[in-house]
Amino acid sequence: MTLECLHTLSALQAKLGTYRFLRQTVGFVPTMGALHQGHLSLVRLAKDKAERVVVSIFVNPTQFGPQEDFAKYPRNEDADLTLLASAGVTLVFLPSVDEIYPQDFTTVVSVPSLSNVLCGGSRPGHFNGVATVVTKLLNICQPQIAVFGEKDYQQLLIIRRMVQDLNIPTEIIGAPTYREEDGLAASSRNAYLKGKERIIAGHLSKTLVHLIQQATQGTNLVDLENTGRALLLRKGFTKVEYLEFRSGRDLNVARAVDDDTRLFVAAWIENTRLIDNMKVTVPV
Ligand code: AMP
Repeated sequence: MTLECLHTLSALQAKLGTYRFLRQTVGFVPTMGALHQGHLSLVRLAKDKAERVVVSIFVNPTQFGPQEDFAKYPRNEDADLTLLASAGVTLVFLPSVDEIYPQDFTTVVSVPSLSNVLCGGSRPGHFNGVATVVTKLLNICQPQIAVFGEKDYQQLLIIRRMVQDLNIPTEIIGAPTYREEDGLAASSRNAYLKGKERIIAGHLSKTLVHLIQQATQGTNLVDLENTGRALLLRKGFTKVEYLEFRSGRDLNVARAVDDDTRLFVAAWIENTRLIDNMKVTVPV
């Protein structure tokens, strides 16, 4: 089966109409392109759960701050399409910015209770951009299921909340984080890492594993957060934006470990910002 690339809402909706007519279920995987094995793991999950899979590639300008990397965000359409075809995807939606945001577009979808901490604290407006574009894409595709990665755990939580609050009839499925051999979470931004930086990056997940192990043995969580920040700086990270134990349910600060606790981190190596998070598994 060949890969069909659609660029307009009308073409996509015509295609989705034929799926609906055939009573075929649709699974949706929204992405910003520069695809890697993490994205493909989402595609595989969608293929398991639905008869048809739609992948979107759209670098959403409204989720980037004015000083952020929208202009230089990695874009590689040919490689993306080759990868998707090899994964058996048959339909890709690649809208232009004007197709998604016409001149008179003004609506903002916001999930304030979850959007102002962690990544939202340092990227004001980021999650409004995410929530708005995901609402639009879900309304356009009307999929039975949509898959999002736990790599962006805060985003996953916000989308779950938004879908519930707005009665969007799509089941949101969370996919485990796909990691490289040294534990680094696959990310489009890993392409920015040069030489030694890639080796330093591997210490991010290793540090989380170490801190989580200490947390389950009862070490004070604030002490561990301080230790973790110092460890990352010593390993070569140039800035630790946040490193925090929080609830994986509502993102409230965790002061003791329970079944919902996760450890979240954002740290920089020069101009590259990396994020990761892991669940704290309480030993039984
Ligand atoms: P992005 O293209 O970075 O916006 O990501 C598109 C989707 O892929 C989001 O749901 C991400 O959470 C997910 N994703 C990105 N990296 C990974 C990864 N390493 N493992 C699992 N999912 C991922």
